[in-house]
Amino acid sequence: MNQSCPCHSGHVFEECCQIYCSRIQMPSTPEALMRSRYTAFVLKDWSYIKSTSMGKALKQFKRSKSLESIEWLGLEVIKTRQKNAVEGWVEFIAHYQLNDKEYTLHERSYFKYHIDRWYYTHGRQLS
Ligand SMILES: [Zn+2]
Repeated sequence: MNQSCPCHSGHVFEECCQIYCSRIQMPSTPEALMRSRYTAFVLKDWSYIKSTSMGKALKQFKRSKSLESIEWLGLEVIKTRQKNAVEGWVEFIAHYQLNDKEYTLHERSYFKYHIDRWYYTHGRQLS
C-alpha cells in the first residue's frame, strides 16, 4: 500500500521524503530539506535531524530531542525563498499536539548549503 507522506505534500512517502530520510538522495532545495526534517520529526528519526543540522541548530539538537513526546498533526509551507546558491529560508506552520492540547508553530527556518548539501542552521518563531 502506498502511504501518503507525513510532510503533507500530497505525494506518496516513497516518492517524497523517504528518499531523503533513507539517505538515498540529498534534498536539493531548502523546502525539500525542511519537509524531510518535518517527516523525520514525525518518525522520530533523530539521527536524520542531527545530520541535517548545523551551527546554532546543531547546538540546540538536545532540545529538539526533547520534542519527542509531541505528536505532529500537519504542515503547511507558507513561503520559500532561495536568496542565492547557498542561503535560503522556508516559512511554515506546523500543527502539533502535546499533553492533549493542540498548538501551532509558525516559524521561518534558515538553511545553508555547505560542501554538498543543505543544512538547517536556525529558526525564528513568527507571530
Ligand atoms: Zn514528504
